[in-house]
Amino acid sequence: MKPQTTDMRQSAERRRTADHGRTGHCASIVPTTVYAATAPVPGLPDHSALRAALAAAAEDVIIYDLAGIGRQYAALCAELPGVAVRFAMKACPVDEVLDHLARLGSGFDAASPQEIAQALRTGVAPGLIHYGNTVKSDRNIAEAYRLGVRDFATDCREDVAAIAEHAPGSRVFCRIATTGEGALWGLSRKFGCSPEDVPRVLGAARTAELVPSGLSVHVGSQQMTAEAWAAAIDSLAAALEGLGRRGITPDRINLGGGLPALGVLDRRGRPLEPPLDKMFVVIREGMERLRAVNAAPLDFLLEPGRHLVADHGAIRAHVARLSSRRRLDGTREDWLYLSCGKFNGLYEMDQLRYRLEFPTHPGGQFVDAVLAGPTCDSDDAYAQEDGPVRVPRAIASGDPVWVHSCGAYAAAYSTRGFNGFAPLPYVCVGGPAPDGGGA
Ligand SMILES: *Cc1c(COP(=O)(O)O)cnc(C)c1O
Repeated sequence: MKPQTTDMRQSAERRRTADHGRTGHCASIVPTTVYAATAPVPGLPDHSALRAALAAAAEDVIIYDLAGIGRQYAALCAELPGVAVRFAMKACPVDEVLDHLARLGSGFDAASPQEIAQALRTGVAPGLIHYGNTVKSDRNIAEAYRLGVRDFATDCREDVAAIAEHAPGSRVFCRIATTGEGALWGLSRKFGCSPEDVPRVLGAARTAELVPSGLSVHVGSQQMTAEAWAAAIDSLAAALEGLGRRGITPDRINLGGGLPALGVLDRRGRPLEPPLDKMFVVIREGMERLRAVNAAPLDFLLEPGRHLVADHGAIRAHVARLSSRRRLDGTREDWLYLSCGKFNGLYEMDQLRYRLEFPTHPGGQFVDAVLAGPTCDSDDAYAQEDGPVRVPRAIASGDPVWVHSCGAYAAAYSTRGFNGFAPLPYVCVGGPAPDGGGA
């Protein structure tokens, strides 16, 4: 049986790379080779569509499972009823993914006029897009305003003055700084002001005839603790009280991103087990508390990035070489070099590890090896001090390697071709059929 067409609209900068299929939506991929599959990871979402596509791939490719992303979106909405989702685009700026989320009702957290334009191409109303980056030039603000955006993040009076000049009458929400504790990526210094500063910033907005509409936080990316959410709620409550004393009553709270991926490993290769259920409990209770503090009804927004896409993307890569070398100190060391690494799909390998699968070598003898990408950059590797990974001894150049849970930040962080290693082409599976029916 011939594999069916895969959804394969390549973005402009990917057009140079190998073509793996025709343009158009596709209901399913029929595997051409059935490998002995290892058991799916317990507790993780259903990956059967991803696995089938991985097995069908004859060349390197990143695969996004739109149906999986859709299920993740629905599960999140069910956990936090009434909370509006604004997908943080940088986590997966892939048109088909954005189209799919838009169809499900998601809006977008954009960080530049270019992202706003990409979000608008999904057909969502400009009102469902906000400019969530506190860092923006006058020109960025003017362009966003021209594109129809009327909601802007801010954290200082300089930015408020610029918004008032270049996006008059818009709504602004003030980002409160967090410590970033408990997150793999803290985001603590570059963005946000202290809760005590909020009345000054939103007071300036009111004076400049902007609408001081809300507050936002970001607890840090791949946040691993429910306590971080509790601390963020405390800061938001303090800021709301301060605003109340100034007679400013916001109407929305943006709880930001930070919700974790479930299928990634820590730097030493141990499963990360974020207490997701506990996080949702803290968030739901926090929303009740904030509603009680504020003098007017509050709407809530969330800007998930990683959580919606990470576990629904996977890379089919291949082995460049498994080699053994003697080091300067005389010890032997095995290295597994893959066809993809930090610069073409696995950018986050400095803080986490990905689950790997070697489908042509499910058993047999293993060696401990340092994992690295294909480029001439020494950062393109797992840190040696974090220990090796287990690799089938018999693995040979060209053998396929499956990299799981790498759907977040893979596309945006790919270089244009470091050492000539171009961004991976991508396919989307599990999308709606071209006739509009379900997959
Ligand atoms: C990156 C970012 C997000 C998404 O973060 P995740 O950790 O991927 O959920 C959300 N909001 C803002 C403002 C961001 O910059």
